[in-house]
Amino acid sequence: MILVDSISFNYPNGEPLFADFTWKVERGEAWAILGPSGCGKSTLLYLLAGLLFPTKGKIQIDGEELTRPRPKNGLILQDYGLLPWATVRQNAELGLRIRGFYGPDGTHSPRESIPQTDVTPWLERLGLLEIADSYPSHISGGQRQRTAIARTLVLNPDLLLMDEPFSSLDAPTREGLQNLTLELQEEQNLTLIVVTHNIEEAAILGKKILLLGRPVHRAPTIIQNPHQAGEDYRKSSLYHTLCDDLRVHLEDISGR
Ligand code: ADP
Repeated sequence: MILVDSISFNYPNGEPLFADFTWKVERGEAWAILGPSGCGKSTLLYLLAGLLFPTKGKIQIDGEELTRPRPKNGLILQDYGLLPWATVRQNAELGLRIRGFYGPDGTHSPRESIPQTDVTPWLERLGLLEIADSYPSHISGGQRQRTAIARTLVLNPDLLLMDEPFSSLDAPTREGLQNLTLELQEEQNLTLIVVTHNIEEAAILGKKILLLGRPVHRAPTIIQNPHQAGEDYRKSSLYHTLCDDLRVHLEDISGR
């Protein structure tokens, strides 16, 4: 589904982050991108989102070269990006309202051509119905992130890109949202790519884990995690062994 095809990238006046880097993601896969702060994880996610562009090479999604953000991409960030003056319901509706102005393909189209979609089922699915009329400042961090997830999923994405989505949440809330993310990924047949610097989070969310050490990144280091999402995986010795292995791998590639 996604082909990162021999890309190179550096910010203007910045050091090269990627050089001739190729990576493939199949439809419906769950990936974590794991690496230390500053190694280029978010940059890779923004390249996949069509918000940044390679200086060489190209990125294709479903055979089409990425030249702008795709309407079927969902992007969820760490700080939720909620409008403080809008309620949970209005925030969840935001993407639909914007799409109403620009049309499903991202270009301008008459409002009448956009089918009305009710966000209520999503508010219900994400346990937000009771607080639908509350403002972001009156709800918890976990509820804010669930609102951001609702806003993204009402747009029916096929690719969900998440940048450190749960790092500011307490451990039980984070675990709950990680489980919810995996449930939704399977239920909606989403391709999931989550950026994290947290080894445990990568092991929970990634059936495959792309390890990034110090740039420049030339070839992907990929760790398979076939038992992820199995029942009670979090408590299993397989999970703990993988976390230990990831720690060693990260030290290895960071020191390279
Ligand atoms: P990570 O997500 O792994 O923490 P980033 O992708 O955010 O890393 O950043 C990778 C490198 O690119 C860092 O050295 C960072 O300082 C640099 N960088 C990030 N954004 C910009 C930017 N807009 N302009 C210049 N350099 C940037």
